[in-house]
Amino acid sequence: MEKQIAVIRGDGIGPEIVEQALRVMDAAAKKYGHTFRYVDVDMGGIAIDHFGEPLPAAELEKCLASDSVLLGAVGGPKWDSMPGDKRPEKGLLALRSGMGLYSNNRPAKLWPQLADASPLKPEIVAKGIDFIVVRELIGGVYFGEHRTEEADGEQKATDVMSYSEHEIERIGRIAFETAGKRRKKVTSIDKANVLDTSRLWRKVMHRLAEEYSGIEYSDMLVDNAAMQIAKDPSQFDVIVTENMFGDILSDEASMITGSIGMIPSSSLGEGSRGLYEPIHGSAPDIAGQDKANPIGTILSAAMMLKYSFDMDEEAAAIEAAVNRVLDEGLRTADMMAEGCRLVGCSEMGDAILKYL
Ligand code: NAD
Repeated sequence: MEKQIAVIRGDGIGPEIVEQALRVMDAAAKKYGHTFRYVDVDMGGIAIDHFGEPLPAAELEKCLASDSVLLGAVGGPKWDSMPGDKRPEKGLLALRSGMGLYSNNRPAKLWPQLADASPLKPEIVAKGIDFIVVRELIGGVYFGEHRTEEADGEQKATDVMSYSEHEIERIGRIAFETAGKRRKKVTSIDKANVLDTSRLWRKVMHRLAEEYSGIEYSDMLVDNAAMQIAKDPSQFDVIVTENMFGDILSDEASMITGSIGMIPSSSLGEGSRGLYEPIHGSAPDIAGQDKANPIGTILSAAMMLKYSFDMDEEAAAIEAAVNRVLDEGLRTADMMAEGCRLVGCSEMGDAILKYL
């Protein structure tokens, strides 16, 4: 296959971690007979420096003309004093909306070699943690009407939460399709005992569950889900939920796996094009020092191969190489433990390439 990938190196550690991910993608391409062409895109602080805005239209166009997008991270203290619409993070929001991305997908996977980094008890961790949170990204209360008014001599604030059937159905499809590529189990999380939006959510999910009959389906209330993620995360494969619940639960899910530098993510919309990025920021405190953990970005690239390009075997090979390197005891500073060997960003990339 031949694919064009828009590459946003971004700010801080972005260029260092993306460099390692591209080396790994090139090695996977060579091994499996693909060609990946990369198109550099400026977004975030670097775009503000070059063009005076965080995502110029021409840069977004390059993303839209590509088969997928890989992003390092954006932002940093240099741009903190810029006005709101000129902040690096605005570039990210513009990119998501410009690409029509309505789903954010975050795997919560605990690599057994890093089990000590999890705040959960060893007996819980021993059962394994490997699920993905599929979060609706552009609807619900975050995007409803917000207003504050004077009422009866005091202030009153209102935030409107709404979902229509098509918004629920399209995120549901992403969850069921994702489950089809994993352990074939979907848990839909809502608050159907209280909220109308959740009752509609549940109705649509049940309709999809009938259609995707090969996928095991269940509902769970969000308060229970928050407890179950801490008590027995091994029960989950794919969690699908609305925007605000997903915001909270995906952070809980990241926390139980330990290292922030290891976690990839994808954002998807219609079609196969997606935005793939590690969940961490640009880590300005360690930028340019060859200290960053590139694995979150490398695993984001693996997700791109699996979910956007249907290259399951290639993605599995990258994950297997990461697993071997962790087995060998190689660690970047963020996940260093006793008895392990400390390596920098590029040496971590070298080691993963060796096993690929
Ligand atoms: P951060 O994730 O950049 O850093 C938090 C801590 O984790 C730091 O100590 C950092 O050194 C460490 N860390 C993060 N990624 C690491 C990696 N790959 N390897 C080793 N250590 C790593 O969060 P922050 O400090 O709150 O934000 C810094 C900048 O990043 C801000 O400008 C923020 O707006 C931006 N940010 C960008 C994104 C994005 O691009 N998607 C996301 C979050 C924050």
